[in-house]
Amino acid sequence: MTANDTSAASHAAPAPSGAEIVQDALVEIRRVRKSFGAHQVLRDVSLAVPAGTVTVLLGPSGSGKSTLLRCVNHLETIDGGRIIVDGDLIGYRQAGDKAHEMTPRQIAKQRRNIGMVFQRFNLFPHMTALENVCEAPIGVVGRNKGDAKDRAMQLLERVGLGDFAGHYPAQLSGGQQQRVAIARALAMEPKLMLFDEPTSALDPELVGDVLDVMRELARDGMTMIVVTHEIGFARSVADQVVFMDGGVVVEAGDPEEVIGNPQRQRTKNFLESVM
Ligand code: ADP
Ligand code: MG
Repeated sequence: MTANDTSAASHAAPAPSGAEIVQDALVEIRRVRKSFGAHQVLRDVSLAVPAGTVTVLLGPSGSGKSTLLRCVNHLETIDGGRIIVDGDLIGYRQAGDKAHEMTPRQIAKQRRNIGMVFQRFNLFPHMTALENVCEAPIGVVGRNKGDAKDRAMQLLERVGLGDFAGHYPAQLSGGQQQRVAIARALAMEPKLMLFDEPTSALDPELVGDVLDVMRELARDGMTMIVVTHEIGFARSVADQVVFMDGGVVVEAGDPEEVIGNPQRQRTKNFLESVM
Protein backbone atom coordinates (compact mmCIF):
# COMPACT_ATOMS: atom_id res chain seq x y z
CA MET A 1 0.00 0.00 0.00
CA THR A 2 1.52 3.31 -1.00
CA ALA A 3 1.24 6.57 0.91
CA ASN A 4 -0.79 8.23 -1.83
CA ASP A 5 -3.29 5.39 -2.14
CA THR A 6 -6.47 7.19 -1.23
CA SER A 7 -8.92 4.41 -2.07
CA ALA A 8 -10.79 3.53 1.09
CA ALA A 9 -12.08 0.35 -0.53
CA SER A 10 -8.60 -0.98 -1.13
CA HIS A 11 -7.69 -0.52 2.53
CA ALA A 12 -10.60 -2.70 3.55
CA ALA A 13 -10.06 -5.29 0.82
CA PRO A 14 -8.27 -8.56 1.46
CA ALA A 15 -4.76 -8.93 0.09
CA PRO A 16 -4.80 -9.52 -3.67
CA SER A 17 -3.92 -13.05 -4.71
CA GLY A 18 -2.06 -12.98 -8.00
CA ALA A 19 -4.15 -11.62 -10.84
CA GLU A 20 -7.39 -12.48 -9.07
CA ILE A 21 -8.17 -9.20 -7.37
CA VAL A 22 -6.98 -5.94 -8.83
CA GLN A 23 -8.44 -2.74 -7.51
CA ASP A 24 -9.14 -0.07 -10.09
CA ALA A 25 -8.01 -2.14 -13.09
CA LEU A 26 -9.12 -0.42 -16.28
CA VAL A 27 -8.08 -3.48 -18.24
CA GLU A 28 -8.30 -6.98 -16.89
CA ILE A 29 -7.06 -9.84 -19.02
CA ARG A 30 -7.68 -13.18 -17.43
CA ARG A 31 -6.51 -16.57 -18.66
CA VAL A 32 -6.89 -15.59 -22.29
CA ARG A 33 -6.35 -18.26 -24.90
CA LYS A 34 -6.14 -17.81 -28.64
CA SER A 35 -5.19 -20.19 -31.42
CA PHE A 36 -4.78 -19.79 -35.14
CA GLY A 37 -5.62 -23.25 -36.42
CA ALA A 38 -3.50 -25.71 -34.46
CA HIS A 39 -1.08 -22.99 -33.34
CA GLN A 40 -1.85 -21.77 -29.82
CA VAL A 41 -0.57 -18.21 -29.75
CA LEU A 42 -1.87 -17.11 -26.32
CA ARG A 43 -1.82 -19.67 -23.52
CA ASP A 44 -3.63 -18.48 -20.43
CA VAL A 45 -2.37 -14.91 -20.47
CA SER A 46 -3.41 -12.84 -17.44
CA LEU A 47 -2.57 -9.28 -16.65
CA ALA A 48 -4.22 -6.22 -15.18
CA VAL A 49 -3.65 -2.60 -16.07
CA PRO A 50 -4.71 -0.09 -13.41
CA ALA A 51 -6.29 3.12 -14.66
CA GLY A 52 -3.77 5.86 -15.33
CA THR A 53 -0.79 3.52 -15.62
CA VAL A 54 1.51 2.36 -18.40
CA THR A 55 2.18 -1.30 -19.12
CA VAL A 56 5.01 -2.15 -21.49
CA LEU A 57 4.85 -5.53 -23.22
CA LEU A 58 8.22 -6.95 -24.16
CA GLY A 59 9.02 -10.17 -25.92
CA PRO A 60 10.60 -11.73 -28.98
CA SER A 61 8.92 -11.73 -32.34
CA GLY A 62 6.10 -14.25 -32.48
CA SER A 63 5.49 -14.29 -28.72
CA GLY A 64 1.89 -13.10 -29.09
CA LYS A 65 2.14 -9.42 -28.18
CA SER A 66 0.30 -8.05 -31.21
CA THR A 67 -2.34 -10.75 -30.95
CA LEU A 68 -2.97 -9.82 -27.34
CA LEU A 69 -3.42 -6.13 -28.22
CA ARG A 70 -5.66 -7.08 -31.13
CA CYS A 71 -7.84 -9.15 -28.80
CA VAL A 72 -8.22 -6.17 -26.46
CA ASN A 73 -9.38 -4.05 -29.39
CA HIS A 74 -11.78 -6.62 -30.88
CA LEU A 75 -9.60 -7.16 -33.93
CA GLU A 76 -9.44 -10.82 -32.90
CA THR A 77 -11.83 -12.91 -30.86
CA ILE A 78 -10.51 -15.03 -28.02
CA ASP A 79 -11.04 -18.75 -27.55
CA GLY A 80 -11.11 -18.72 -23.77
CA GLY A 81 -10.70 -16.54 -20.72
CA ARG A 82 -11.97 -13.02 -20.63
CA ILE A 83 -11.00 -9.43 -21.23
CA ILE A 84 -12.68 -6.57 -19.43
CA VAL A 85 -12.08 -2.94 -20.37
CA ASP A 86 -13.64 -0.33 -18.13
CA GLY A 87 -16.22 -2.78 -16.90
CA ASP A 88 -17.20 -4.04 -20.35
CA LEU A 89 -16.60 -7.61 -21.32
CA ILE A 90 -14.58 -7.67 -24.55
CA GLY A 91 -13.83 -11.32 -25.15
CA TYR A 92 -16.08 -14.33 -25.02
CA ARG A 93 -16.04 -16.42 -21.89
CA GLN A 94 -15.77 -19.52 -24.00
CA ALA A 95 -15.60 -20.25 -27.68
CA GLY A 96 -19.09 -20.30 -29.06
CA ASP A 97 -20.70 -18.92 -25.91
CA LYS A 98 -23.49 -17.08 -27.65
CA ALA A 99 -24.59 -15.37 -24.47
CA HIS A 100 -21.46 -13.27 -24.65
CA GLU A 101 -21.36 -12.51 -28.33
CA MET A 102 -21.81 -8.87 -29.06
CA THR A 103 -23.52 -7.15 -31.92
CA PRO A 104 -21.32 -5.20 -34.35
CA ARG A 105 -22.85 -2.06 -32.89
CA GLN A 106 -21.81 -2.95 -29.33
CA ILE A 107 -18.33 -3.81 -30.56
CA ALA A 108 -18.04 -0.48 -32.40
CA LYS A 109 -19.12 1.33 -29.25
CA GLN A 110 -16.49 -0.40 -27.14
CA ARG A 111 -13.76 0.15 -29.69
CA ARG A 112 -14.38 3.88 -29.61
CA ASN A 113 -13.03 3.87 -26.07
CA ILE A 114 -9.78 2.31 -27.22
CA GLY A 115 -7.23 4.11 -29.38
CA MET A 116 -4.70 2.06 -31.29
CA VAL A 117 -1.45 3.09 -32.90
CA PHE A 118 0.33 0.61 -35.14
CA GLN A 119 3.87 0.24 -36.41
CA ARG A 120 2.74 1.56 -39.78
CA PHE A 121 1.00 4.88 -39.54
CA ASN A 122 -2.05 4.01 -41.64
CA LEU A 123 -3.01 7.61 -42.32
CA PHE A 124 -5.38 8.36 -45.17
CA PRO A 125 -2.99 9.56 -47.92
CA HIS A 126 -5.54 11.83 -49.61
CA MET A 127 -6.33 13.75 -46.42
CA THR A 128 -4.33 16.44 -44.66
CA ALA A 129 -3.05 15.91 -41.13
CA LEU A 130 -6.01 17.90 -39.82
CA GLU A 131 -8.52 15.96 -41.91
CA ASN A 132 -7.02 12.68 -40.73
CA VAL A 133 -7.51 13.73 -37.11
CA CYS A 134 -11.09 15.01 -37.70
CA GLU A 135 -12.27 12.13 -39.81
CA ALA A 136 -13.56 9.79 -37.10
CA PRO A 137 -15.08 12.41 -34.79
CA ILE A 138 -17.06 13.83 -37.72
CA GLY A 139 -17.65 10.67 -39.79
CA VAL A 140 -18.13 8.11 -37.03
CA VAL A 141 -19.69 9.94 -34.12
CA GLY A 142 -21.16 12.88 -36.00
CA ARG A 143 -19.49 15.65 -34.06
CA ASN A 144 -19.97 19.24 -35.21
CA LYS A 145 -17.38 20.04 -37.90
CA GLY A 146 -16.16 23.29 -36.41
CA ASP A 147 -15.74 21.80 -32.95
CA ALA A 148 -14.01 18.72 -34.34
CA LYS A 149 -11.57 20.90 -36.28
CA ASP A 150 -10.78 23.05 -33.25
CA ARG A 151 -10.19 19.97 -31.17
CA ALA A 152 -8.05 18.37 -33.91
CA MET A 153 -5.95 21.51 -34.09
CA GLN A 154 -5.38 21.37 -30.33
CA LEU A 155 -4.35 17.74 -30.63
CA LEU A 156 -1.92 18.48 -33.46
CA GLU A 157 -0.40 21.20 -31.30
CA ARG A 158 -0.17 18.78 -28.44
CA VAL A 159 1.91 16.38 -30.56
CA GLY A 160 4.07 19.26 -31.80
CA LEU A 161 2.55 19.53 -35.28
CA GLY A 162 0.53 22.72 -35.09
CA ASP A 163 2.34 24.04 -38.15
CA PHE A 164 1.66 20.93 -40.23
CA ALA A 165 -2.14 20.76 -40.14
CA GLY A 166 -2.45 21.32 -43.90
CA HIS A 167 0.27 18.84 -44.87
CA TYR A 168 -0.51 15.52 -46.51
CA PRO A 169 1.07 12.34 -45.11
CA ALA A 170 3.53 12.15 -48.02
CA GLN A 171 4.83 15.60 -47.04
CA LEU A 172 5.55 14.47 -43.47
CA SER A 173 8.39 12.39 -42.03
CA GLY A 174 7.61 8.99 -40.56
CA GLY A 175 7.86 10.41 -37.07
CA GLN A 176 5.50 13.23 -37.91
CA GLN A 177 3.04 10.79 -39.49
CA GLN A 178 3.15 8.66 -36.37
CA ARG A 179 2.43 11.69 -34.21
CA VAL A 180 -0.56 12.49 -36.46
CA ALA A 181 -1.68 8.88 -35.94
CA ILE A 182 -1.48 9.40 -32.17
CA ALA A 183 -3.47 12.64 -32.44
CA ARG A 184 -6.02 10.84 -34.57
CA ALA A 185 -6.45 8.11 -31.96
CA LEU A 186 -6.77 10.73 -29.20
CA ALA A 187 -9.48 12.57 -31.13
CA MET A 188 -11.97 9.91 -30.10
CA GLU A 189 -11.15 10.61 -26.46
CA PRO A 190 -10.24 7.03 -25.66
CA LYS A 191 -9.96 5.67 -22.15
CA LEU A 192 -7.18 3.36 -23.20
CA MET A 193 -4.39 3.66 -25.75
CA LEU A 194 -2.73 0.64 -27.32
CA PHE A 195 0.60 1.06 -29.09
CA ASP A 196 2.04 -1.76 -31.19
CA GLU A 197 5.72 -1.06 -31.84
CA PRO A 198 4.98 2.56 -32.69
CA THR A 199 8.61 3.46 -33.35
CA SER A 200 10.04 0.36 -34.95
CA ALA A 201 9.41 1.51 -38.53
CA LEU A 202 11.07 4.88 -37.90
CA ASP A 203 14.55 6.10 -38.68
CA PRO A 204 16.46 6.24 -35.39
CA GLU A 205 16.60 10.04 -35.30
CA LEU A 206 12.79 10.24 -35.43
CA VAL A 207 12.10 7.84 -32.58
CA GLY A 208 12.69 10.32 -29.76
CA ASP A 209 9.93 12.76 -30.75
CA VAL A 210 7.33 9.99 -30.84
CA LEU A 211 8.46 8.59 -27.49
CA ASP A 212 8.33 12.10 -26.03
CA VAL A 213 4.68 12.44 -27.08
CA MET A 214 3.92 9.08 -25.49
CA ARG A 215 5.80 10.03 -22.34
CA GLU A 216 3.71 13.20 -22.08
CA LEU A 217 0.49 11.26 -22.59
CA ALA A 218 1.52 8.96 -19.75
CA ARG A 219 2.27 11.94 -17.56
CA ASP A 220 -1.21 13.31 -18.29
CA GLY A 221 -2.66 10.09 -16.89
CA MET A 222 -3.58 8.14 -20.01
CA THR A 223 -3.85 4.40 -19.48
CA MET A 224 -1.56 2.76 -22.01
CA ILE A 225 -0.40 -0.67 -23.12
CA VAL A 226 2.74 -0.32 -25.22
CA VAL A 227 4.54 -3.01 -27.18
CA THR A 228 8.04 -1.74 -27.76
CA HIS A 229 11.67 -2.77 -27.77
CA GLU A 230 12.67 0.66 -26.44
CA ILE A 231 14.04 -0.50 -23.13
CA GLY A 232 14.93 3.01 -21.99
CA PHE A 233 11.34 4.09 -22.50
CA ALA A 234 10.08 1.03 -20.62
CA ARG A 235 12.40 1.74 -17.74
CA SER A 236 11.54 5.40 -17.41
CA VAL A 237 7.82 5.39 -18.24
CA ALA A 238 6.32 1.98 -17.45
CA ASP A 239 4.58 1.28 -14.18
CA GLN A 240 4.61 -2.39 -15.11
CA VAL A 241 6.70 -4.42 -17.54
CA VAL A 242 5.38 -7.71 -18.87
CA PHE A 243 7.75 -10.09 -20.64
CA MET A 244 6.00 -12.56 -22.95
CA ASP A 245 7.47 -15.53 -24.76
CA GLY A 246 5.74 -18.39 -26.54
CA GLY A 247 2.28 -17.09 -25.71
CA VAL A 248 2.78 -16.92 -21.94
CA VAL A 249 3.69 -14.19 -19.49
CA VAL A 250 7.14 -15.25 -18.35
CA GLU A 251 7.74 -12.42 -15.94
CA ALA A 252 5.89 -9.26 -14.94
CA GLY A 253 6.35 -6.49 -12.46
CA ASP A 254 8.12 -3.28 -11.70
CA PRO A 255 10.52 -2.19 -14.50
CA GLU A 256 13.45 -2.17 -12.14
CA GLU A 257 12.72 -5.79 -11.28
CA VAL A 258 11.93 -7.18 -14.72
CA ILE A 259 14.51 -5.17 -16.65
CA GLY A 260 17.00 -4.40 -13.90
CA ASN A 261 16.98 -7.78 -12.23
CA PRO A 262 15.24 -10.40 -14.42
CA GLN A 263 14.71 -13.74 -12.72
CA ARG A 264 14.14 -15.95 -15.73
CA GLN A 265 16.72 -17.00 -18.26
CA ARG A 266 14.37 -16.29 -21.20
CA THR A 267 13.96 -12.72 -20.01
CA LYS A 268 17.72 -12.29 -19.62
CA ASN A 269 18.37 -13.64 -23.11
CA PHE A 270 15.79 -11.33 -24.63
CA LEU A 271 17.07 -8.24 -22.84
CA GLU A 272 20.63 -9.04 -23.91
CA SER A 273 19.45 -9.26 -27.51
CA VAL A 274 17.78 -5.83 -27.52
CA MET A 275 20.03 -3.76 -25.26
P1 ADP B 1 4.39 -10.67 -31.80
O1 ADP B 1 3.59 -9.45 -31.97
O2 ADP B 1 4.82 -10.94 -30.41
O3 ADP B 1 5.56 -10.71 -32.75
P2 ADP B 1 2.10 -11.99 -32.95
O4 ADP B 1 1.01 -11.82 -31.97
O5 ADP B 1 2.11 -11.12 -34.14
O6 ADP B 1 3.49 -11.93 -32.18
O7 ADP B 1 2.11 -13.47 -33.49
C1 ADP B 1 2.16 -14.59 -32.64
C2 ADP B 1 2.07 -15.84 -33.50
O8 ADP B 1 0.78 -15.90 -34.06
C3 ADP B 1 3.06 -15.87 -34.64
O9 ADP B 1 3.55 -17.17 -34.78
C4 ADP B 1 2.21 -15.48 -35.83
O10 ADP B 1 2.71 -16.06 -37.00
C5 ADP B 1 0.87 -16.05 -35.47
N1 ADP B 1 -0.24 -15.27 -36.05
C6 ADP B 1 -0.54 -14.00 -35.79
N2 ADP B 1 -1.64 -13.60 -36.47
C7 ADP B 1 -2.04 -14.69 -37.19
C8 ADP B 1 -3.11 -14.95 -38.09
N3 ADP B 1 -4.02 -13.99 -38.39
N4 ADP B 1 -3.20 -16.16 -38.63
C9 ADP B 1 -2.31 -17.13 -38.32
N5 ADP B 1 -1.27 -16.97 -37.48
C10 ADP B 1 -1.13 -15.77 -36.92
MG1 MG C 1 3.89 -7.76 -33.15
